[in-house]
Amino acid sequence: MNINNLLVKIKLLRLGHRIHRDHRTTTHCALVARAFGTSEMYYCGNEDDSLISSIEKVNESWGGDFNVTYVKSWKSFVNKCKKDGNFIILCTMYGKNIPDIEIDLRSIFKDRDIVIIIGSEKIPPELINLSDINVAISNQPHSEVAALAILLDRLFQGKQLNLKFTNSKLNIVPQEKGKSIYKL
Ligand code: SAM
Repeated sequence: MNINNLLVKIKLLRLGHRIHRDHRTTTHCALVARAFGTSEMYYCGNEDDSLISSIEKVNESWGGDFNVTYVKSWKSFVNKCKKDGNFIILCTMYGKNIPDIEIDLRSIFKDRDIVIIIGSEKIPPELINLSDINVAISNQPHSEVAALAILLDRLFQGKQLNLKFTNSKLNIVPQEKGKSIYKL
């Protein structure tokens, strides 16, 4: 998927997925990542086939080819992404606050693929140095879903809100009141 002909990609890495505790939140991270224009989500922690099948069902109805993949080792994944030239952003409340760095991030995003990493439980300390930048969405603790949504919005500057998905079976006709969906 590209937004306004941006050929670079954003991938999401979700750390430490715990099947029972995180199922809903990790699914929400994937839904935000898909709806807001990233191409794929990788996750580590517990392997969870139902996570993958829920997103496949969303793609089937609402289109696009957003992909969810399990990775065993975040370290190998991040090292490989770095080697491939990706710019690694770790979302953490300890990072540089987004208003202070968003212009720099957008300029990097013009010609480099980005990997956004979000945590669940405690972030491995090693990752704090391995990432290219630690970004805070305010220096207050809150939610990975909110942090991801705001970071993507600042990177895409709202253009993601008008994304069109290919091969959708369900489509919404926006209504001021009521609900209108057409099926293809
Ligand atoms: N208790 C966990 C800890 O001590 O690391 C934090 C859990 S927090 C709900 C889960 C994830 O949300 C964090 O790992 C981080 O990626 C993201 N997050 C939470 N607040 C954030 C903030 N202010 N800025 C950026 N990311 C944030």
